[in-house]
Amino acid sequence: MQQQEPICALATASGVGAIAVIRVSGIGSVELVNRFFYGKDLTKVKSHTVHFGTLQYKSLLIDEVLATVFRSPKSFTKEDSVEISCHGSDYIVRQILKMLVSEGARMAKPGEFTQRAFLNGQFDLVQAEAVADLITADSDVSHRTALNQLRGGFSKKLYLLREELIHFASLIELELDFGEEDVEFAQRDDLRQLIMHLHQTIHPLIDSFSFGNALKEGIPVAIIGSPNVGKSTLLNALLNEEKAIVTEIAGTTRDVIEDTLVLEGMKFRFIDTAGIRETLDVVESMGIERSRRAMEQADLVLFLYDSEQTLREVEQLAKGLNTEKKYIWVQNKIDLPDQNSTFTSEVSSSENQVKISAHAQIGLDELKSVILAQVHQQAATDTVVTNLRHYEHLLKTSAALDEVLNGLDAGITGDFLAQDIRLALFHLGEITGTIVSDDLLANIFSKFCIGK
Ligand code: GDP
Ligand code: ZN
Repeated sequence: MQQQEPICALATASGVGAIAVIRVSGIGSVELVNRFFYGKDLTKVKSHTVHFGTLQYKSLLIDEVLATVFRSPKSFTKEDSVEISCHGSDYIVRQILKMLVSEGARMAKPGEFTQRAFLNGQFDLVQAEAVADLITADSDVSHRTALNQLRGGFSKKLYLLREELIHFASLIELELDFGEEDVEFAQRDDLRQLIMHLHQTIHPLIDSFSFGNALKEGIPVAIIGSPNVGKSTLLNALLNEEKAIVTEIAGTTRDVIEDTLVLEGMKFRFIDTAGIRETLDVVESMGIERSRRAMEQADLVLFLYDSEQTLREVEQLAKGLNTEKKYIWVQNKIDLPDQNSTFTSEVSSSENQVKISAHAQIGLDELKSVILAQVHQQAATDTVVTNLRHYEHLLKTSAALDEVLNGLDAGITGDFLAQDIRLALFHLGEITGTIVSDDLLANIFSKFCIGK
């Protein structure tokens, strides 16, 4: 455990609030704050206690505050720390920070508190990154996945497997030390089993990434159908009912309007809605091509039709579709008489059929629960990788493990085997931060906001 020079920053959001919290952490931070604190001798109080007093600098009263004292190693950073709760005015916050800096503290860099916590072993890198995700989580599910990772999540699993692999690596190195060809300390079959086990742990994590990403960014949904079946009406009905947040994101290469809809804390993103509204109509020139592209980007496709004829068109479009996606067949305009389109056998075998009237707002709740059911199925799988860096290292680990397996199959010598194992260990270690370069650390923590 290492204590560094004291740093300080505003920990709460900047701007006017009822209270603001300023964090000070590092060697001598209690003594530093105590020099301006009147009401109690903070250097003599117990860890984890809160004290009322005034802050005065050069005989000028700055504010009445509460100071919370944390003694090393029982603090977020594991260093001596003080949290000052003051009145939430920019002026007061600035005065206090100025005072701290002029007396020896330094303004913290973005993420520096979390970086210190990591360096002092408070948590591993996956968890540190989860802190960042937690701060920015804006839906129930992304909040839950971030919390899960913060509690250890998949890095614990990986950590244990990595330990086992290290064990094998050292046995093989031992063989090399002996230098005799017929000495085998490391059972090759056991090694093969361990690699399989690692694969079994890693592959679901790799697979979970696209879903994890979708949770963070919003699950992409496409509404597909012939002109005038009611696509725009449906989208508007869904959006209005949920008092949805409608965001307009100006794309860099073309104008893309995205409508975001939050259902039970799950974010959905209706992709390229401008296109869906105006040009996805199948009979239009380019219509089919655009529909296909929208479907490619979507995790979830709503096929909308309102008559026998438009159903056939939609079925035509649905032919040869990627079976890994989720499809929902939606018959619209059931408020009109004569709406008894019959499904072909292909569609009727699908469970996901809903009858609605977008215009009369019939069946929308059922449609929403069918949409949600699709996603809940996936969310139920316990660990979801949401972080691109983790994903990339998981891929590299997997490739390195394949090399070890290939090597075992080919019966390569211990020194080559050891090399492949070391590479797998390296990538595994990079995920949890067991092996980590300063550059990488700086890169990760600079994405945090100041005060975290
Ligand atoms: P889009 O071309 O697929 O986007 O279709 P629109 O949403 O523009 O709707 C085409 C027409 O169908 C409009 O006149 C809508 O008012 C009408 N419409 C949409 N949904 C319904 C519905 O559920 N019932 C009835 N009767 N008309 C609908
Ligand atoms: Zn239209």
